[in-house]
Amino acid sequence: MDFRLPEEARVWAGKVREFVDHDLIPFEVEAELNGGDLRPEIRQRQRQKALDFNLSGMDAPKQYGGLELSVVEQVAIYEQLGRVTNALGWCFSEAHKWMFEACSDDQINRYVVPILKGERHECYAITEAESGSDVDGLDATARQEGDHYILNGEKWFVTSANLADFAIFQARLEGGIHAGAHVLFFVDLDTAGIEVIDTPLFSHTFEAHHPTYRFRDVKVPVANRIGDEGAGMDYTRAWFRRERLMIAARSCGAAERLLEEVRVFANNRLSNGQAIAQYQLVQAMLADSATELWAARLMTYEAAQAHDRGEDLKRLHARCSMVKLYASEMVGRVADRCVQIFGGRGYMRENPAERFYREVRVDRIWEGTSEIQRLIIGGIFNKRGLDGLIGSTNT
Ligand SMILES: Cc1cc2nc3c(=O)[nH]c(=O)nc-3n(C[C@H](O)[C@H](O)[C@H](O)COP(=O)(O)OP(=O)(O)OC[C@H]3O[C@@H](n4cnc5c(N)ncnc54)[C@H](O)[C@@H]3O)c2cc1C
Repeated sequence: MDFRLPEEARVWAGKVREFVDHDLIPFEVEAELNGGDLRPEIRQRQRQKALDFNLSGMDAPKQYGGLELSVVEQVAIYEQLGRVTNALGWCFSEAHKWMFEACSDDQINRYVVPILKGERHECYAITEAESGSDVDGLDATARQEGDHYILNGEKWFVTSANLADFAIFQARLEGGIHAGAHVLFFVDLDTAGIEVIDTPLFSHTFEAHHPTYRFRDVKVPVANRIGDEGAGMDYTRAWFRRERLMIAARSCGAAERLLEEVRVFANNRLSNGQAIAQYQLVQAMLADSATELWAARLMTYEAAQAHDRGEDLKRLHARCSMVKLYASEMVGRVADRCVQIFGGRGYMRENPAERFYREVRVDRIWEGTSEIQRLIIGGIFNKRGLDGLIGSTNT
């Protein structure tokens, strides 16, 4: 086994690290103290830089202007973006590979390529009041009438909707031969019948909000349906796999930054005339954190390599759940220990450990809670044994 990153991935990590260190991290406190917002010229500069790197196209095919990077390279990029708080790394939207596979040419031209160019921004409207972990149980409906569908439903936690101009909306088909099956649509957010009914505050301080939307008799053309009727869940699963892997990558980046920051502090902070880094109780927290980060990083890159070598889809699904589960729980523990090592300073909002402590908590909730990841892993283990999850050392 060889876990050294390929040269291309190291080059990407270096470029993005410089962007994060020079253009994003210096603005974290400003964002924190301003409800997540930055001065428009600063945000614009960050967005332009992300566009210049073509980060929107890291997963997109070259024929459409994407970079078609390997999954390992993409994980290397997301690991670096994870080093910044206040979601300042979310300075670009992303045109994913699955979109090019699922969408018609017309949809690619109207929605997906404009994401690549930074001209349009999407949000995902899947979760509902009574359907979060239980995605299969959603109540939103889509009923075909001639060359249109009529959409109804209430969607919760629609991340970035305040910055987006269209949503990917998941519903259940009402009537027709696929009645009850799931279906996805592109829905322009200025379509009649769409209303924001709440913009709750959350633990983190992000420019991107998570509002609740009501869709009442919203008319969208059949041409906006993504893929076939009934294929909705397949695309949602493809999106979950990618997001789970990238959450793991960002968790590793966050843990790395936390450990870098706390190491400097622990070596300079004196207590009873001695740097606190010299105290073994502090060293134990640092040792556990570094060890768990290493484990999470190895798992995450191995899962990325498994994508690049084209492993069986079920195994990939299991691996994405395992890395999301382990890495998101790992960074929660690391953030908690770092707050402890910073002492009272770790409880101040200007301290990155305090911000990470709040921000990484959601990584155990969104894109499937830790419990749901355990159910997925346990289910696959029961059906296919270890071979279905990680294989063995002689296969
Ligand atoms: C900040 C934020 C942003 C989000 N952004 C988006 C977005 O952009 N688009 C979107 O569609 N959704 C989004 N979500 C929704 C997110 O995916 C859900 O919150 C998540 O899937 C959990 O669903 P829930 O909140 O309904 O919790 P529930 O499903 O009600 O779960 C509550 C608790 O019960 C546990 N539980 C539930 N079922 C089981 C079970 N079968 N076995 C064991 N335990 C179980 C859960 O693990 C959890 O601990 C976002 C959420 C947050 C907090």
